[in-house]
Amino acid sequence: MRLIDEVYIYPERGFLDCNTYVVGDAIIDPGSPAYLKNKIKEMDQDKIDIDDIRYIINTHLHPDHSGGNEDFAKEFKAKIAVYEEVKQYYSYYDQLFEKNIKLNDIEIDVLHTPGHSPESISLYIPKKKVLLCGDLVFKQGVGRVDLIGGNAEKLKESINSVSNLDIEYLLPGHDSIIQGSDNVKKNFLYIKKSYFWLL
Ligand SMILES: [Zn+2]
Repeated sequence: MRLIDEVYIYPERGFLDCNTYVVGDAIIDPGSPAYLKNKIKEMDQDKIDIDDIRYIINTHLHPDHSGGNEDFAKEFKAKIAVYEEVKQYYSYYDQLFEKNIKLNDIEIDVLHTPGHSPESISLYIPKKKVLLCGDLVFKQGVGRVDLIGGNAEKLKESINSVSNLDIEYLLPGHDSIIQGSDNVKKNFLYIKKSYFWLL
């Protein structure tokens, strides 16, 4: 489904899956291989030419986000692209990218936002006020920190740093997206009030 110009969402479909996004010429978190065909069909219906997708980018490496990487790379020409700051966590990638990238003509700021996992990144599109945050925060929730490499202090730091951004569309790795800067701000306040003392 087209959210705004050049930003599409394909919501998670089931177990070990996540929300998949298409931003410019990149697919962000292909999700589970089990649902990939359905999502590709939806992209097709949205008139995305999947052969034009050049990059596969993961917000982090958990299998519910990266499980479909290989299948997608095999079927299409997209390359697995990894933020250089977190490359040590990846056993395989085709290409590295730096802090500022362009997906088609969309300028992206790449933010290292560890906590849920050490290699977690968020993608911020300043011109569109969009933040793709992976499993950093959700609607009234935060990413779990009890998996390998999870770190509650780092999660809080990362949440604090992104909560200062000007965000109109918060696009998490699971559950629903949050639209409207007031709603996004309210959500960050709720999270800080309800979760920070627990972490
Ligand atoms: Zn995760």
